[in-house]
Order: sequence, then C-alpha cells, then structure tokens
Amino acid sequence: MAVKRDKALEKRIARERIDYLLNLADEVKFRDYELARRYVELAVRIAKKYRIRLKKKKLRFCRGCLHPYRHDKMRVRVSKGVVRITCLNCGHVRRFKLK
Ligand SMILES: [Zn+2]
Repeated sequence: MAVKRDKALEKRIARERIDYLLNLADEVKFRDYELARRYVELAVRIAKKYRIRLKKKKLRFCRGCLHPYRHDKMRVRVSKGVVRITCLNCGHVRRFKLK
C-alpha cells in the first residue's frame, strides 16, 4: 500500500522554501542579479506545483522576467490613484489601484 501523502505538511514545507528562496534573492540581488532571478524562478515553480498563491510577495519581483525589483531597475509612477511599476529589464508594466 502506498504511503499516504500529507498534503498539508507538503504545503507548509513548500511555503517555507518559497520564503527562504525569496529572502535569498533579496540578499544577493545587488551582487548577482542573475542568481537572484534564478532563486525567484525556483520559488515561483514551487508555488505553481503546490498551488500556493504568492499574493503580496509578487510585488517583490517582475512577473515578466522574474528579476527581483531593484530601485535602479524599475520605474514607479503614481497618477490618479493608480500605481504603475515598469520593469526596466523587460518593460513589463504592472498596475494596481491605491485604496
Ligand atoms: Zn521584467
């Protein structure tokens, strides 16, 4: 008989890994930008596999190219209550409203 998978446990471990990888990406992003992107990529892949929503964590990296946001690689503009974050690596624009 197959061992029953503990999905709750798997998800918890996956969440821990995602947090760890994103923190790591933040740490190295000024030293090795490509490595930081790789960490984000892994975190996103784990999130997809275990169907974990990244919610606010998404704001830490570009969804187009997965590079972590860095003040010299992004442009932030606010007009009429809408924030636009433009990634200067790939040009991906993200918009969201201020409450
Ligand atoms: Zn980008």
